[in-house]
Amino acid sequence: MKSLYIHIPFCKKKCHYCDFTSFSGREALMPEYIDALEREIYLLTTNHYPLTTVFIGGGTPSILSPQQLRRLLNIIKNNFDLTNLKEMTFEANPESLDREKLSILQELFSEAIRLSIGLQCFDNKYLKDLGRIHSSEEFLDKYTQARMLGINNINIDLIYGLPGQGLAQWQNTLQKTVALKPEHISAYCLTPAKGTMFDYNNVSVDENIASDMYKFTSEYLPANGYGHYEISNFALSGRECVHNKIYWGNKEYIGIGASAVSYINGVRSKNVADLGAYLKDAGKKSLVEESESLDEESKLGETVMLGLRMRRGIELTQQIESKYTDIITKYKNDGFLEIADNRMFLTQKALFVSNTILADFV
Ligand code: SF4
Repeated sequence: MKSLYIHIPFCKKKCHYCDFTSFSGREALMPEYIDALEREIYLLTTNHYPLTTVFIGGGTPSILSPQQLRRLLNIIKNNFDLTNLKEMTFEANPESLDREKLSILQELFSEAIRLSIGLQCFDNKYLKDLGRIHSSEEFLDKYTQARMLGINNINIDLIYGLPGQGLAQWQNTLQKTVALKPEHISAYCLTPAKGTMFDYNNVSVDENIASDMYKFTSEYLPANGYGHYEISNFALSGRECVHNKIYWGNKEYIGIGASAVSYINGVRSKNVADLGAYLKDAGKKSLVEESESLDEESKLGETVMLGLRMRRGIELTQQIESKYTDIITKYKNDGFLEIADNRMFLTQKALFVSNTILADFV
């Protein structure tokens, strides 16, 4: 059983903080891009892989026209064994989602569909500052349409630590989000990525305010029924993201599309990110830009680093204990790591500074 990720690298406009592989103003290439995805899938699916999860991310997958979306979903249906499919996540932004696309998702993937909508926050002023091109009203309209069409597994993506945003404004966003009762909420701290407009303008995050926002989030959401199951992810019971848990469990997955990463048989490989090169090389071996065969030591380090992102942590095997004795002792003494019932996990106070801790294991 495998998990499949498909990358759609098109956005109507580039947000001011984002360095994901996504291009604006290249929508004319979308039909050609779907042809290329199909070629890449043909090359892969000689075995007609059985899939447990599919994740269509980006970029902005909802930017595809209804016809292009239908075609992409049919390519997946025709080339993989979906008998045991548990979840099919589709990422969407409010400005490009509509009733017709929602109906196509429902028609072709019905019960498995999981919609992930990028809201980021409820304040239109901050949305504008982020370079987002939707309003909170537009989000509400599309969220309501999805519910009316019977989509019963929805994630809302949020970002905190925005320039000028105070704790009260973030609390307001969380309260309005919870009132909608989505099944899942992701809340990430703003990261002005290198080379972005925010980076160029030296926009930085106030760590003290962001830390208060994170603390509030990790108390408020669980108090409202959302289990805090990963550093930045919260879900109602039984609604954790199955696909992302494959990544955090360091399990195998196939990535299709420009810049997509695959992890199969201990080899991690990454497709070219350049759109022109991807369109030219999809379906050929030259598509892979980087490839690394992980030895046992690297695999173990990644298993620990990824597994500790989950609040339930990892099983503390003898191998892990002996390889990381010093690091474990240090962080345990500092109150950042805890061990109970033969499992090791990050403590609450470690979560906001987890990047530094996790990096020590690889
Ligand atoms: S944040 Fe999302 S919508 Fe904005 S540019 Fe990046 S991928 Fe596109």
